Amino acid sequence: MRKTEIQLEEAVGLIVENIQPVADVETVSLSEAMGRIGARAVYSGTDNPPFARSPLDGYAFFSEDVKNASGKKPVKLQVVGTVFAGEWWNKKLGSNEAVRIMTGAAIPPGADCVVRQEDVILTEGNLEKPAYVEINRAMGAYENYCFQGEDLKKGDLLLEEGRYIGWVEMGILASAGICQVLVYRRPRIALYVTGDELCFPGQRLQPGKIYDSNYWLLSGRMKEMGYPPAIAGLLPDEPEVVAEELKKAVEKVDLVVTTGGVSVGAKDIFHQVLPLLGAKQIFWRVRMKPGTPAMFSLYQDIPMLHLSGNPFAAAVTFELMAVPAIERLTGDERLNRKRIRAVLASDFNKSGGRRFLRGCLKDGLVMLPSAGKHASGMLFSMAGCNCLVEIPPSKVPVTAGHLVDVILL
Ligand code: AMP
Ligand code: MG
Repeated sequence: MRKTEIQLEEAVGLIVENIQPVADVETVSLSEAMGRIGARAVYSGTDNPPFARSPLDGYAFFSEDVKNASGKKPVKLQVVGTVFAGEWWNKKLGSNEAVRIMTGAAIPPGADCVVRQEDVILTEGNLEKPAYVEINRAMGAYENYCFQGEDLKKGDLLLEEGRYIGWVEMGILASAGICQVLVYRRPRIALYVTGDELCFPGQRLQPGKIYDSNYWLLSGRMKEMGYPPAIAGLLPDEPEVVAEELKKAVEKVDLVVTTGGVSVGAKDIFHQVLPLLGAKQIFWRVRMKPGTPAMFSLYQDIPMLHLSGNPFAAAVTFELMAVPAIERLTGDERLNRKRIRAVLASDFNKSGGRRFLRGCLKDGLVMLPSAGKHASGMLFSMAGCNCLVEIPPSKVPVTAGHLVDVILL
């Protein structure tokens, strides 16, 4: 039975509405939190900095003491000690007293400003053991003074529920001393490539065989996103074998992605695999090139996305359909690809339906590979590309100078 093609947007809508976000949570240590999605809001239990501190190397004192200081009438302060970062000075400074202080050290009680080391005259002693310094200008209260909690305050919301924990969040959580985070479980995704012609790099190519690129291509993409496949395999064009494998896989995963076997050839096995499993086909065929025969099914409520085996088709449909599926599973908003408008710098010499091409975007101009290098079975010309270019349906070839939609990869 030949099903009618649906629009990509409808396909993505069906995928998303048939997927539930992973709801399981686990507590991980901060060292394992990078790349995870926070499952509960995290608030700070502390101020940062936890005490008022000096932003520079200099001398701390009470600004009142130098309110009349000038070049002509410098004020002399007695240096009563030195405080280094990590130390705590708990004596109160008296009037006309100063403490030599290093960047990051706590400002002693009684002091409310810090003068730069370069701006004082050391009149007695030396830097190792300063005895008296002269200040030759008035200073305001809290000059060169970092307030306790000026970065973040106890009770501040450090991480919202559902937020991706990236390197900045890691630094912020650590700055508040957070050592454990409740995160959502990672999605478990199975990735299968199918085709009797496929063999693995390292094997000797027999006549009629090719090296599989899709496992490496798509698992590479998944690793790059932070969601490597939990299960993967290369399966033959045998419906029973594939069905058997999928039966086991759905017990363990949240999403299955396959490539190959969805077109109309005699060995396009997914037309038999789904009935063998009793899986429900949600759609087959999407109005776009490449990757038209993309298929989506549900088996035991587990979503299965079956993509065309042509490597460029697999890449495009993975990007446009599997990535939104993973975004839905994880809530990871980073995965939402940026779309911009750019000017085509090359001609595309075909007209027809909606197409996605590989391209290289630079300074608002998008270059396409040379003619003849666009086929869905060709991957090599994608090297150096950084975007997908959307060519809308058109009766005439789209030429250089046209504004097009570009999806940044
Ligand atoms: P299919 O989607 O199974 O009809 O395959 C379409 C084309 O893509 C055929 O030329 C296949 O040999 C090729 N192909 C399928 N799977 C892969 C793969 N994993 N790696 C490279 N080429 C593939
Ligand atoms: Mg095949």
